[in-house]
Amino acid sequence: MTFRPRILSALFLRIGLAVALSGSALFSAQADAPAKQAFGSVKLPSVTAPESYGFYSKGCISGAVALPVDGPNWQVMRLSRNRNWGHPNLIALLEKLSRDSAKTGWNGLLVGDISQPRGGPMLTGHASHQVGLDADIWLTPMPNRRFTNQEREDVSAVSMLKANSLYVDQNKWTPSRTALLKHAAGYPEVERLFVHPGIKKQLCETVTGDRSWLAKVRPYWGHHYHFHVRLRCQAGSPDCKPQEPTGKDDGCGKSLDWWFTDEPWKPAKPGEKPKPPKIMMVSQLPQACASLLNAPAPASVQDVTFGLKKGGNASAFAPEQAPASVPLPAQKP
Ligand SMILES: [Zn+2]
Repeated sequence: MTFRPRILSALFLRIGLAVALSGSALFSAQADAPAKQAFGSVKLPSVTAPESYGFYSKGCISGAVALPVDGPNWQVMRLSRNRNWGHPNLIALLEKLSRDSAKTGWNGLLVGDISQPRGGPMLTGHASHQVGLDADIWLTPMPNRRFTNQEREDVSAVSMLKANSLYVDQNKWTPSRTALLKHAAGYPEVERLFVHPGIKKQLCETVTGDRSWLAKVRPYWGHHYHFHVRLRCQAGSPDCKPQEPTGKDDGCGKSLDWWFTDEPWKPAKPGEKPKPPKIMMVSQLPQACASLLNAPAPASVQDVTFGLKKGGNASAFAPEQAPASVPLPAQKP
């Protein structure tokens, strides 16, 4: 074997094997391909420094890490999607949010989609979530037990809206939900939260005292079963394209009123031909994304799971205030 600089860890020595085992077809730089297929088939991240390339809805991420599927105050849902990957700062933030919100009565986070191992467009759902800085969190708290893997596929989230309305069901909304959103918006690295306009309205009408955090809470379609956390571009990602700042306005005025008019909810005009969906090709993403598809992978998911020591187990992350009633799994499933 040839000499390698010592700085290359054992991880890198196992790269050749890992790439072969990762199950992902190598992307040929010569042959372009639909980006959602190329990125949707990659099973592991690249073992490189964490870096987001491009925009939330048109980009990719290198050096993503996995949120462990179980933690003291969280459970990852829909494991079969393999979308519990993100920038390490996002994963750390989700863990922090799970602890902070537990203190204000949120039993734990049910975490939905974050990103694919190397980000990029997905085969199903989501225009964004491509650069490892977006995460969906259910507005349903974690139960006092661990879901089985099958339950994580099947259990449905609960809409916070009254049936057939744009307004929050007051029997479902709780102060602990407001507190959860306030915690999330309070972190400086969080740039935006997306919620349904009805939820934004609920906050506008009920939050007293400090209302500055409402500026980060943006109304958007969907998002009544879950809310969406978006981090700003992180240090070390010069090619991450920032979104325009949210400003200081609490967003409870005219811009919110628009959501309660017919305009945002109009169906496509009858007789209008639906446009064929645009298929984004790998070549249309930032250039770094094409080479990222071929970058070396780690030997295993464990090696790149946040807070897990190499060869470690799920107890390697430091539990803080683990509720006594929630059993921790002895081993990662
Ligand atoms: Zn989302």
